[in-house]
Amino acid sequence: MPADADIRANLAAVRARVDAACAAAGRAPDEVEVLLATKTQPAGRIAVAVAAGARLIGENRVQELAAKDAELTATAAPASFERHFIGHLQSNKVNQVLRYVACVQSVDSVELAERLQRRLEVLDRTLEVLVQVNTSGEASKSGVAPDEAVAVVKEVAALDRLRVRGLMTVGLQSPDEAAVRASYRGLRVLRDRAADVIGAGLPVLSMGMSGDLEAAVAEGATLVRIGSAVFGARPRPA
Ligand SMILES: *Cc1c(COP(=O)(O)O)cnc(C)c1O
Repeated sequence: MPADADIRANLAAVRARVDAACAAAGRAPDEVEVLLATKTQPAGRIAVAVAAGARLIGENRVQELAAKDAELTATAAPASFERHFIGHLQSNKVNQVLRYVACVQSVDSVELAERLQRRLEVLDRTLEVLVQVNTSGEASKSGVAPDEAVAVVKEVAALDRLRVRGLMTVGLQSPDEAAVRASYRGLRVLRDRAADVIGAGLPVLSMGMSGDLEAAVAEGATLVRIGSAVFGARPRPA
């Protein structure tokens, strides 16, 4: 595990990679935000990253959000960070997740969107969401199929408590850079089509991770989700 100073240095190195990728793509660096994927990281290490300027935090499991909440909000100023949910959300966890997050990036069914809508009506609030698309075709990955994505966005956009901001994908994990780029390009094409259909902008494209953020930025990512490049390799499940 890297020390606190390493977390700060790694964060700066990731930001420099994003800036270089923006320059190579002729994009302004402020078009791309970094979200830290903090699964398995203790609250204290997340607080170090927040103190170093990380604003967006993504968690994959509601149980982890809940377990880290007290320590994180005590050690990092609550106004200095925003949490997003980026894992598969079970419908029975909807009530709980809404205590912690400003955005659910992983809406992967109309049914889940409707559950969120009903709970948000009770709470009398709104929530930003992204629709997650399975661009890699791997059965192990969550997300709606690409050919259903536009229809799902249309149904989600009709739910008045949800503010649909764009699309998210966990791209193809492959050494074939052209194939990775094609999967990210596919998400951008779907976003453009969905925005046409609903007649509103969908500014957010959440795609790209530690190993392939350059490919994602080249294809239009506005938010890259970074874990291991900042926190080091995660222990592999046995
Ligand atoms: C873990 C995770 C990431 C970050 O992956 P790294 O390769 O560690 O950067 C991004 N997105 C999701 C949904 C994740 O679960």
